[in-house]
Amino acid sequence: RNSLIYVNGTFTEQPTIDVEERGFQFGDGIYEVVAVKAGRLLFTRDHFNRLENSCAALRIQHGFTYQTFEKAMNELVEKTHCENGMVYIQVTRGTASRNHAFPSPTTVGCCYAYTMSNASSAHALQEGKAITLADIRWLRCDIKSLNLLGSVLAKQEASESGADEAILHREGIVTEGSSTNVFVVNDGILYTHPANHLILNGITRQYVIKLAKEAGHQVVEEPFSIQFLEQADEVFITSTTQRIRPITTLNAKKLTDAPGSLTSKLQQALQATILNELN
Ligand code: PLP
Repeated sequence: RNSLIYVNGTFTEQPTIDVEERGFQFGDGIYEVVAVKAGRLLFTRDHFNRLENSCAALRIQHGFTYQTFEKAMNELVEKTHCENGMVYIQVTRGTASRNHAFPSPTTVGCCYAYTMSNASSAHALQEGKAITLADIRWLRCDIKSLNLLGSVLAKQEASESGADEAILHREGIVTEGSSTNVFVVNDGILYTHPANHLILNGITRQYVIKLAKEAGHQVVEEPFSIQFLEQADEVFITSTTQRIRPITTLNAKKLTDAPGSLTSKLQQALQATILNELN
């Protein structure tokens, strides 16, 4: 990561965290990850809207307008000379004497952000391995909260199986990946879990749905089973950092050698949308 950190309106290389910071003690906060390409933030408005929704759901004051948010994050990207990579942004309820209930309304929240630079962006990944696992997370997965233990344990299990992602299910119904949304294609129709409290409504997910519809494909946002996933023509996952990643191996069984035709088409369409954003 780059060493300069944004903390509540200032930039520092040595931020401190109080032992009673509520994000640290309770996971009482939310986060966002925004991609940076050619020194520019991508889909900033979408990420800000989701940050606002997450904060509203938890009754956390973030103190930004869209304009002040955009300005602060652009300044961070510039000051850290981040060309390609991402910005991590965290907002918490701040520091107060330890008590589960909310602190006094005068307690100042904490927003910090930093950048991470990558040599190249994850454009059009060609393969991906996933395992299926029970979804043991809480019932407000629509909030991008700091409480990530369900995802941490799932990703670790995937990693120990030599896979890149864990595709989660509740009683046989596929919800999403540990840090991605899941799509399947059957007969040219795109299927994904509806954006309710059981999944995070990914920004990439929203663009993929829009692009598929624009290309004339039907998109069905309805729950589907693990069997449906296993027998699908194409499977892919989406996220800000991985964009559209085909799942070519599922539970150690090879599904295909190459991304499917709709997967490739959507990868190209997303890349075009991103290049268009930068113009
Ligand atoms: N689902 C979960 C649980 C996630 O943590 C993420 C991103 O980190 C996503 C989906 C994908 O969201 P986005 O496309 O906005 O990065």
